[in-house]
Amino acid sequence: MTLLSLSAANADLIELHHDGVRVLVSVRRSDRSRRIRLRVTEEGAEVVLPRRSARRHAVDAVREHAAWLVRHVGRLTVEPDDSGTLGVRIMFEGRWRSVHCTFTGRSSVLFDGESLVVSGSNPLAALESWMRKRAAEMFDESLKRRSKEMGLVPSRVSLRDQKTKWGACTSRGTVTFNWRLVMALPDVLDYVVVHELAHLQELNHSARYWKIVESYCPEHKVYRKWLRENGRYLQLPKAFPPSVEPDLN
Ligand SMILES: [Zn+2]
Repeated sequence: MTLLSLSAANADLIELHHDGVRVLVSVRRSDRSRRIRLRVTEEGAEVVLPRRSARRHAVDAVREHAAWLVRHVGRLTVEPDDSGTLGVRIMFEGRWRSVHCTFTGRSSVLFDGESLVVSGSNPLAALESWMRKRAAEMFDESLKRRSKEMGLVPSRVSLRDQKTKWGACTSRGTVTFNWRLVMALPDVLDYVVVHELAHLQELNHSARYWKIVESYCPEHKVYRKWLRENGRYLQLPKAFPPSVEPDLN
């Protein structure tokens, strides 16, 4: 399924949803360009439009090449760029983000939708506590919505840091989630919630179980594949590398 929406706030942005993946495509006008071109760079996806072309041509091109865009942006997403000197890159909300550390000031984290700025003498601790809080909010929101929809309510919910597990459900109705799913695409986190809630009804992986999952999350196969391919990237670095210079201003 392909959905396109145009950002009202930003005329230079096309939001593409395809196969459960969200890609932001920026629109750039070029005097030199004779024809419409699509590019995927480390900065993201871009459509280059000849100066006089109508904007709808950019939209048409994005729609037509949706699968290609998702495939190529996806490839960038799973390959961390180690050539960058800007600092650390971590996966957050399903994309690689630059993390800039100031190493000074009060402990805080800013996320502008693209990259992260971490302040404080211990950026790693600041980042982890910020992410755990954000994870709690996201799971809370998803659980409220999905519980109501599915008519299934866990007796207890906890967030943990598990090495390999993303979620679990017990016969007593306790569900557990890995907080590091906050680094995955939000739709993937939501799928894991549906997955565990469905276990409250069927504590197995039978055909009947998957039917429940399917009815609340039709794209679950896409998300499972995403987790298989990207799960290993959903973690914080052990340390911020020494190449990151403290900002002494
Ligand atoms: Zn399961």
